[in-house]
Amino acid sequence: MNKLIYFFEEDNNSGKELLGGKGANLAEMTKLGLPVPSGFTITTESCIRFLNDETFFEKELKEHIIASINKLEQQTNKSFTEENHLLLVSVRSGAASSMPGMMDTILNLGLNDKRVRSFAKLTNVAFAYDCYSRLLQMFGDVVYSINKENFNRVRHDLEKQLNKKQQDFSEEQQQQLIEAFKSLFITHDVRFPQDPIEQLFEATKAVFKSWNNQRAKVYREIHHIPHHLGTAVNIQSMVFGNSGNNSGTGVVFTRNPSTGENKLFGEFLINAQGEDVVAGIRTPEPIETLQNLLPTAYKEFVHYAEQLEKHYKDMQDIEFTIENEKLFILQTRNGKRTAKAALQIALDLVAEQRLTKKEAVLRISPEAIDQLIHPIFDEKELTNAKLLATGLPASPGAATGELVFTAEKAKEYHALGKKVILVRQETSPEDIEGMVVSQAIVTSRGGMTSHAAVVARGMGTCCVTGCESLHIQEESKTMMCGDIRLAEGDLVSVDGSSGCLYLGDIPTIVVENNQNLQQLLAWADEYASLKVRANAETVSDLQTAIDFGASGIGLARTEHMFFGEKRVLEMRRVILAQDNQEFEAALTKLLEFQQEDFYQMFKAVHDKPMIIRLLDPPMHEFLPHTMNEINTLAKQLKRRPSEVQNQIEKLQETNPMLGHRGCRLGITEPKIYQMQVRAIFNSAIKLMKEGFLVRPEVMIPLVSEENELRNIKEFLTETVLETFKEQQVEPFPYEIGTMIELPRACLIADRLAMNSDFFSFGTNDLTQMTFGFSRDDIGKFINSYKEKEIMVQDPFQTLDQTGVGELIKLAVAKARQTKEGMMIGICGEVGGDPYSIPFFQKIGIDYISCSPYRIPAARLAVAQANLIN
Ligand code: PEP
Ligand code: MG
Repeated sequence: MNKLIYFFEEDNNSGKELLGGKGANLAEMTKLGLPVPSGFTITTESCIRFLNDETFFEKELKEHIIASINKLEQQTNKSFTEENHLLLVSVRSGAASSMPGMMDTILNLGLNDKRVRSFAKLTNVAFAYDCYSRLLQMFGDVVYSINKENFNRVRHDLEKQLNKKQQDFSEEQQQQLIEAFKSLFITHDVRFPQDPIEQLFEATKAVFKSWNNQRAKVYREIHHIPHHLGTAVNIQSMVFGNSGNNSGTGVVFTRNPSTGENKLFGEFLINAQGEDVVAGIRTPEPIETLQNLLPTAYKEFVHYAEQLEKHYKDMQDIEFTIENEKLFILQTRNGKRTAKAALQIALDLVAEQRLTKKEAVLRISPEAIDQLIHPIFDEKELTNAKLLATGLPASPGAATGELVFTAEKAKEYHALGKKVILVRQETSPEDIEGMVVSQAIVTSRGGMTSHAAVVARGMGTCCVTGCESLHIQEESKTMMCGDIRLAEGDLVSVDGSSGCLYLGDIPTIVVENNQNLQQLLAWADEYASLKVRANAETVSDLQTAIDFGASGIGLARTEHMFFGEKRVLEMRRVILAQDNQEFEAALTKLLEFQQEDFYQMFKAVHDKPMIIRLLDPPMHEFLPHTMNEINTLAKQLKRRPSEVQNQIEKLQETNPMLGHRGCRLGITEPKIYQMQVRAIFNSAIKLMKEGFLVRPEVMIPLVSEENELRNIKEFLTETVLETFKEQQVEPFPYEIGTMIELPRACLIADRLAMNSDFFSFGTNDLTQMTFGFSRDDIGKFINSYKEKEIMVQDPFQTLDQTGVGELIKLAVAKARQTKEGMMIGICGEVGGDPYSIPFFQKIGIDYISCSPYRIPAARLAVAQANLIN
């Protein structure tokens, strides 16, 4: 059993799983000899034990905390309970994965009515009571959920009544404020504990519990952080950045978190505590200015910043406090950054020989890559756009949407399918759910390290902060930008890269593949074994896929090719044909269309392989629905509308997803599949004659029975041979494979492999058929499932490894029993999911196939999967 508490200086190799990221780094910095205020960490295991059984606190943890506080008193030569040599502590959460602002922190713990007086004598009245009132406010908020705003209101009222600011209050007036704050506790049927030890116990329990608050849960969902890890609690002796003009506090990144530029980037406030910088209530100053104000502390800071970056081999996000010119480092962690910065930093660190290429590939998250291919505004359109305001470019990207002023409204509009831009004075962790659904976030206050900026960067959401010229009136749901008045629902556009807010909507374009990205992905390719193919069929999508580095096409769905106005008419003729002549004539037309399609597609992918899937959806999907459309079609077919309508009705199915679709169509209407195969081979032969090398790969969908496959393969092979003959060419290699989309297909994979050159798992259907969840209706219940923790992930998005994954694993093993080196891929949505890819790597899949814009992230994910496996 691990110890429950570790002091920072204790030599242990527990790491962040047990100590949390913050605790592990405090221990590490202490070992490196940095000026870290003393303290100890209560482990994540203690948190979990407490969350499982609250009596653990009374029975066990309590006495360990008391012993540790006694030790801290000895170390600091101060007392936590007596009135002299005051020891005050901070209580901060710290999980293994950083969750900025999601859980709770309480500062200045240990103050009470008596001790604050000695503290005031030791320092000064304004400072001591500033600390005490902050403690009451944070304690009230964190431990008893008394909204901070209540305290602000009380303070504001008293300031108004006394006609001065809190810092100018006399000691009696300060006490008056404290009494008013304490009354707030009473009105909430609780009291503020005067005993420092009791404060510490309650604060620790509250921080443990904050692991399970709604915003922390949502954050973990978004960032795929498991719920069972718990948070550590760090108890650290306080140093005071708010003890006068020779003191201050700041947050600094060792490199620019937006661009990656190798230059200190951050902000500080003189005479302030840490929360002032993050809350964005006072606008901080850039870090360079500290050089003029407190040069010694600045120099020292620069030195430690370099040391930390070197030690952690990564850009650091460092919190520091200066108390009467003495510098303390309170925290360091790998800094959150934009994707652009992440890439720049990783590449620079490789160039500086601090990282290897392999480490660089592991360093960037596949989600970060997505940010790089996010849209930007069309420059041409921007020149005519009306600029409303400018703020700080906190997180890149470009977005347009309807204006909302609260997180609730954002959620409400989002549920109606609207795109929203959330504009607030500043955001707080309570806003997280509204922020998640917003296209962009704009705040009128706060700097580049404010809550809005940090959270938006983490999510890759476009964000502008510190847009000070905006005057937001939340009650009237309006905002003034100069003399322009905007109301909720008005359209605005946000450019997170330039920090500009515009009126109206502005068209966006997608960023070109950039050089840094190409460099990283080229390295990634060196370490990958899984290939990345694309799901694409239009020439422009095929081109995008190839440009993004697809090694081929894993799924070209042919049904999309029957939907143009002329094509769908021919398709309808085929379906509704009354005699063979009509049927054949329409089929010949379709053959011409398909031939041209395939010709262009093969040309676009050039020498890369392409799997073309034969027609999959049920026939009625091609037929008209409204009476108007039916009338038009009847006219085109020269039939009576009622006749056409009758035919259409006969084709309707009760359960189309389980009905006449996929290979079942191939069996009942072999001529359609034959036409498609003829078109594929005609175009391949044409290209071959033009000097291209084409090796067609044809795929049959929705097979569940060996005989289905045998039957179709037989007549397709005949058609291929006929086509070679007709075109007078020597047969060349080609492949006919099958999709595995049904549980039965997985179970008989060894038999299917006998008649199949390759397999591709259609995990969309396989998930649908395994769970019995309609892939089109899961939206109706998946959120409830997630809320009730019945399911953590949507299985259509991230592979259900336990069930669907097991079937795939079994099928792969069975197939390879029949054909050892058989090529096997994944072409459902989960194929491009970075969280599912390691599983595919592990079970011996050869390639995954995903939509073109997911290819860069997938290339990185497959490399990482190989490196960590
Ligand atoms: C699948 O079912 O996973 C698949 C790729 O096919 P479709 O989505 O076209 O049904
Ligand atoms: Mg399918």
